[in-house]
Amino acid sequence: MVKISELKLRLEEMSNEQEALYQAAAKRLGVKRTALNDLIITKKSIDARRRHEIWFHYQILVTCEDAKALRKNRKGVSFEEAPQLLSMTSGDANLRNRPIIIGFGPAGMFAGLLLAKHGYCPLILERGMDVDTRSEQVKRFWESGELDENSNVQFGEGGAGTFSDGKLTARSKDARMAHVLLELIAHGAPQSILCDAHPHIGTDRLKGIVKAIREDIIAHGGEVRFGAKVSDMRTQNGRVSALCVNEEWIRCDQVIMAIGHSARDTFQMLKERDVALEAKPFAVGMRIEHPQSLIDESQYHEFAHDPALGRASYRLTHQASTGKGVYTFCMCPGGYVVPAASNEKQVVVNGMSEYARDGANANSAVLVQVNESDYGSGVFAGMHYQEELEKKAYQLGGGHFHAPVQLAKDYLADRPSTAFGKVRPTYARGTCFAPLKELFSDVINQSLKEGLLAFERKIPGFVSEDALLCAVESRSSSPIRILRDQNHRSLSYPNLYPCGEGAGYAGGIISSAIDGVRCAQKIIETFAPLQERS
Ligand code: FAD
Repeated sequence: MVKISELKLRLEEMSNEQEALYQAAAKRLGVKRTALNDLIITKKSIDARRRHEIWFHYQILVTCEDAKALRKNRKGVSFEEAPQLLSMTSGDANLRNRPIIIGFGPAGMFAGLLLAKHGYCPLILERGMDVDTRSEQVKRFWESGELDENSNVQFGEGGAGTFSDGKLTARSKDARMAHVLLELIAHGAPQSILCDAHPHIGTDRLKGIVKAIREDIIAHGGEVRFGAKVSDMRTQNGRVSALCVNEEWIRCDQVIMAIGHSARDTFQMLKERDVALEAKPFAVGMRIEHPQSLIDESQYHEFAHDPALGRASYRLTHQASTGKGVYTFCMCPGGYVVPAASNEKQVVVNGMSEYARDGANANSAVLVQVNESDYGSGVFAGMHYQEELEKKAYQLGGGHFHAPVQLAKDYLADRPSTAFGKVRPTYARGTCFAPLKELFSDVINQSLKEGLLAFERKIPGFVSEDALLCAVESRSSSPIRILRDQNHRSLSYPNLYPCGEGAGYAGGIISSAIDGVRCAQKIIETFAPLQERS
């Protein structure tokens, strides 16, 4: 197909975007509009840098029937294949048992889908419940505080990203990215995720997609067991030989371990079974909420309410004088701050939104990097520090999983908050005013304060317009890495593949899914499919 970069449309042209793009492409190629077909947008971004003018920038693929025109050398025009699913050749080594995947988050799902489609009949073990049951459990927790420690916002079908904004950002140039996006589209995601600069799905659509992927895995000979927590493993001759699930031992050959970043008990079990682990730096902080209109107006000015622009988002960074990086993370336009705990008497917050992103508030994490200098040495030092923060947040919130909150300007001025301003909290379990500085060390507080002031300079109103802080945001990435070699195999057991965010090799839905594909590819390249032998 012909690839054309740097095509531009004005905001007014968005009412008939596809046709306007055909016209712009025809002009660039010097051909008639009728010579062009099958236009696919591969990149799309909004340029709102000028106050009174908004442009949309595109890269497209299109088929062109005018061969003569294509021989001319034109700026920004080249040839490229349309994005495709991966194709792979299987190895010939014998598998004694079907591959087992632990965890059905993005990493486990995409590993499972690839293995199933290539005839490997994977068995997937997930401690949480299927997405419908899980949604009921999460709703019950948000309404009543009744938490299921195995099936919640972190654990269950679809993994940690199911109750999320479903932002599909990945700064990856990996060819597997197109594969993951195409599979998501094939299972119900909007086509626009292939091209949007900031693609997102929304929790409402994600739930259907997750279920469709599970059904496809089963249709291709795989099996998914919910309520199936792997609590122990046996080893023999330097290999993992069996996994314990609900007191049943399951023999295993190749095992992909995609357990996410919150399975503290499973990390402990891995350590007891001599799996090589190390502590990994991560980040902690709080969620900040603003009126979404403030963010829209700060970026789109007079065009803020134009539906073609959608809801505005931001990503901000600051280097504090403490030497620590401060940054906003997982910004959810028109979203909600969600109770995301997976343990009793611990408060964890995160962000979520629906596809329409039509909530009144914008929210985002404001995070500071933490490392050994903050939590000490030892494999589990970071994980214990994270747990302590969550316990403190529970106490500051006054119990019942209420979250401690404080107006951002009061946090900066070191004074208690007594009343909300323009921003009402969206956190469903209820909130309690508290001095949030009590959660963190002086260095972290200093870094957060400097970051907030820097962000106020970038988005006026970021602090001053009654913005509300809600704590604690502690699960943005894994505090542990499960060490693996360049073939993605555990340094301790060559038939164990640490995978995804929990293993410390990915962060976010897309990169975790890519890592799942990567680990499944290693199994496919080495072993013959099971279906071929039966
Ligand atoms: P997970 O998704 O954590 O999946 C691991 C699975 O393993 C879990 O389902 C767990 O139950 C299971 N498991 C753990 N231990 C065991 C065991 N012993 N036995 C059996 N099963 C086990 N990322 C984005 O890119 N965009 C977003 O918009 C976004 N929003 C988020 C919002 C929220 C509220 C949260 C919590 C996270 C969000 N993230 C987002 C992060 C994203 O969800 C994770 O990066 C991603 O899910 C990691 O994928 P994973 O498969 O590696 O692990």
